[in-house]
Amino acid sequence: MTPPRWLFWHRRDLRLADNLGLAAAARATAAVTGVFVLDPTILDAQAPATIPGALPAVAPARLWFLQESLRELAESWRAAGSRLLILRGDPEQLLPRVAAALGAEVVAWNRDVEPFARERDRRVARALQADGRKVLAGWDQLLVEPEALATGAGDPYRVYGPYWRSWRRRVEQLEALGSAASGGLDPLPAPRSLIDCDPTALADLPVLGQAPGKAPFRGLQHDFSGSDLCPCRPGEAAAQQQLAAFCTGLEGGGRRAPLLTYDEGRNLPGEAGTSALSAALKFGTLSPRQAWTGSQQARQTVAALGGAEEALASIQVWEQELAWREFYQQALFHFPELAEGPYRPQWRAFPWENSPERFAAWREGLTGMPIIDAAMRQLNESGWMHNRCRMVVASFLVKDLICDWRWGEAAFMARLVDGDLAANNGGWQWSASSGMDPKPLRIFNPATQAAKFDPEARYIRHWLPELKHVSTRDLLSGEIAPLERRGYPAPLVNHKLQQARFKALYATIKA
Ligand SMILES: Cc1cc2nc3c(=O)[nH]c(=O)nc-3n(C[C@H](O)[C@H](O)[C@H](O)COP(=O)(O)OP(=O)(O)OC[C@H]3O[C@@H](n4cnc5c(N)ncnc54)[C@H](O)[C@@H]3O)c2cc1C
Repeated sequence: MTPPRWLFWHRRDLRLADNLGLAAAARATAAVTGVFVLDPTILDAQAPATIPGALPAVAPARLWFLQESLRELAESWRAAGSRLLILRGDPEQLLPRVAAALGAEVVAWNRDVEPFARERDRRVARALQADGRKVLAGWDQLLVEPEALATGAGDPYRVYGPYWRSWRRRVEQLEALGSAASGGLDPLPAPRSLIDCDPTALADLPVLGQAPGKAPFRGLQHDFSGSDLCPCRPGEAAAQQQLAAFCTGLEGGGRRAPLLTYDEGRNLPGEAGTSALSAALKFGTLSPRQAWTGSQQARQTVAALGGAEEALASIQVWEQELAWREFYQQALFHFPELAEGPYRPQWRAFPWENSPERFAAWREGLTGMPIIDAAMRQLNESGWMHNRCRMVVASFLVKDLICDWRWGEAAFMARLVDGDLAANNGGWQWSASSGMDPKPLRIFNPATQAAKFDPEARYIRHWLPELKHVSTRDLLSGEIAPLERRGYPAPLVNHKLQQARFKALYATIKA
């Protein structure tokens, strides 16, 4: 008897291993076919026209990461015995068509927290069900499901501290359940020995050619030229290698695992002290359970070696970052209005100055403040930016240049390889002080930040090679003599004056 066919719809879970929706499908039947839909509504979207610069909603760097990850994923499906169908169009129309062509009884996928995706999924599910097909949708992209935690009053969490404590307790409970197949956190292996569909059934479907070599899939062109500089590597295999290098060190005893010194290393943009797994977690070439298992294995190794306190503390700080990721995702799930604007209503009335010229200078790394410009050049050239610098440039745009944080949010989405609505919106609202963070007003002094976290100006010199000759002191302070500038711009603003100006404007909206 032929086993029933299922479709598995990949979205932000571009891997075969530890993919909970796919594993559920493969437990039910060996006849599983993968689908990925390139949706022009997403790919061709633009930031609102009110934001200068005609910004694309999807960064070229993300298209590169997506394309390369899909290429590897298609290979993995073939190796597992079946195939991945890549199509371009509206999922609401395409998925019922594919399901009908293959005679699929069930279409499975993993749920998302973003408002657009949730609405789309509802429409797709309705269309499939109208055709008599079953839909199976569960959580995969978080260790702790968004509905699982609530405050004592039964509300979703709005403050990270108590969320983290509750999240940590829940993670411990889940760990005790063992395999992810039974609700635990132990990652699942990739399915094997799948049964392919009859290729003639695909004849009338607009399946895109799985281009050999480096050519892009049709319908997925990009002009990203920074792939060699980007620390995030596409594909499931590279994510595993990055995780291993971060948690256990490079093979052959080359470098100590950065995870063990993360507490300090995470703040130094001139060093590779973080995992650079953000794009892998965003696109799901790595699962959160795999990331968690990496840190738990590091804990065991440290404990077996006599357990240095600092190393264990560092591991915990990294786990707290994984919890920040989940905090922002559950916040977006429960408060979708976060995507529309400031969480704190008084910020809707903030009198932004919104100078398009200043915004353009900030985006291009031409503000005359070296730490800001170095960070923006890192973003523009590599598609990624260090977290410390994200906080510093965000504060600078909002509190020194007095530009609406939503402009910065859109500018980041237009360039970041890991651009993710929940994390990016959370980071910008945190930096703008318009979000859930209980601290009323946070202003970073860029010179102080540079002196503290890039004391030898290594990061600044790396990304601003035209300033290599300038003294470290001047690079950090930004006070570079005109003759030394050699074409590098004079500072756009004075931090002290702008800080006073911002505070005066803030006083007008303070409740
Ligand atoms: C203004 C601003 C915008 C940001 N935009 C994004 C974004 O679009 N996408 C994104 O993934 N992160 C974003 N972040 C969070 C953070 O900067 C990146 O996750 C981090 O720099 C990625 O580097 P890494 O993988 O080496 O992180 P690590 O330090 O190794 O941390 C491990 C993982 O934890 C998660 N994480 C770490 N810090 C945060 C955080 N503050 N918020 C949410 N998740 C976190 C990421 O998935 C990261 O890969 C933003 C932060 C700010 C201040």
